[in-house]
Amino acid sequence: MSATETSTHLRENPLSLARVQLARVGETFGVDSNLIGVLKSCKKSVEVSIPVLMDNGSVRVFDGYRVIHNVTRGPAKGGIRYHPNVTHEEVKALAMGMTWKCALMSLPFGGAKGGVICDPKELSAGELERLTRRYTTEIINEIGPEKDIPAPDVGTSAQVMAWIFDTYSMNVGHSVLGVVTGKPLALGGSVGRDGATARGVLYCIRTALQKEGRRFPDTRVAIQGFGTVGRNLARLLAEEGARIVALSDSGGAVVNSYGIDVAAAIVHKAEHGVLRGLPGTEEATNDDLLESDCDVLVLAALEQAVNADNAGRIRAHMVCEAANGPTTPGGDEILEDRGILVLPDALAGAGGVVVSYFEWVQGLQEYFWKEYEVNAKLNDIVVRAFEETWSTRERFGTSMRMAAYGLAVQRVAEATTTRGLYP
Ligand code: NAD
Repeated sequence: MSATETSTHLRENPLSLARVQLARVGETFGVDSNLIGVLKSCKKSVEVSIPVLMDNGSVRVFDGYRVIHNVTRGPAKGGIRYHPNVTHEEVKALAMGMTWKCALMSLPFGGAKGGVICDPKELSAGELERLTRRYTTEIINEIGPEKDIPAPDVGTSAQVMAWIFDTYSMNVGHSVLGVVTGKPLALGGSVGRDGATARGVLYCIRTALQKEGRRFPDTRVAIQGFGTVGRNLARLLAEEGARIVALSDSGGAVVNSYGIDVAAAIVHKAEHGVLRGLPGTEEATNDDLLESDCDVLVLAALEQAVNADNAGRIRAHMVCEAANGPTTPGGDEILEDRGILVLPDALAGAGGVVVSYFEWVQGLQEYFWKEYEVNAKLNDIVVRAFEETWSTRERFGTSMRMAAYGLAVQRVAEATTTRGLYP
């Protein structure tokens, strides 16, 4: 994964937005305001400083966070982000989002997130390893297979997860496969984890198209973001016969209304680090991509890409949120008023955490599944959550987002009430 942006992508405070969203869900679904008050806050938040010996002999100190939002339904689960624009409030908002995502998928997990303010692209492999091992050591009392299980997010990779696994295991004196997911296959990773988020997106778009009587071969797709999620999704969609008309990364967009050769785009990006200059395409800006003429727009980059300023110009009839929080509430309202179907992050972006759950289960059992089993079980869970969200949307006459969050918040609220308030 990559992290490249230097100016922040956050236009509004993500935690405030998450809380506004939660309050709206509470009102729409009649959830007890005391419970909404509890769920507005994160259960635990750790802020650490991470001194790292740099290759030039100096010591640089990085700031990091690990936030657990809720553990009512099971141990906390959530990725670790390495990015220069990470903020504590962003990590809290992302942790809350993980609680809803896990609940919507009916996984026995709560929500968490971690982040370190750094640009992994500027660090050598040795610096990245030392940073990761020290960060893990600083949060070692918080994480564990029964407590909080990290995973990759923007700027972190399977290799980073391997260092976390090793650091934790060395400290407790034996290998603990269940401490982290998104590990390399050689260290108890799950087959299908790398492409899992993209696969979950694919299943959601397919089910949504079926509801409209459409199929992939009639569908033109634009994808913002060409990292782990965007790249894998472009490949899967092309295999299904969809026409990929625009792609982008932080360096800009490439477009071809007749269809982009995705395999060539993957090779070009691997060789040049950017999509720009891909033969057979025209260059465009990231804004152009969002507003391009397509049927489905997939947001697979960072937060707040679609907002009140640009939502009025989006031409897709379906917006699919593979990323976390890529649409602000202001942007969302405009999309809804315009009748654009939005597949929300809690639903569309959940494939990764579902297969992380499978990896955790396999690690605890030390028994590993075949790829077709992983993909079939992923399809079952994502399509079931899609159908539950769709029928809730119809029953309450609301948006897919409100229906997804409504289902999730109600599940967490029910678990909280049933457990009772301790002491
Ligand atoms: P990544 O770091 O691999 O890729 C991010 C991509 O977005 C890069 O190609 C980057 O160049 C691009 N990008 C950044 N800013 C952009 C902009 N303004 N316009 C266009 N492209 C831009 O990250 P990823 O793992 O693919 O994650 C992408 C999103 O999906 C994040 O929001 C992440 O939280 C979310 N997500 C990831 C997973 C997972 O399993 N990796 C799971 C769930 C959600």
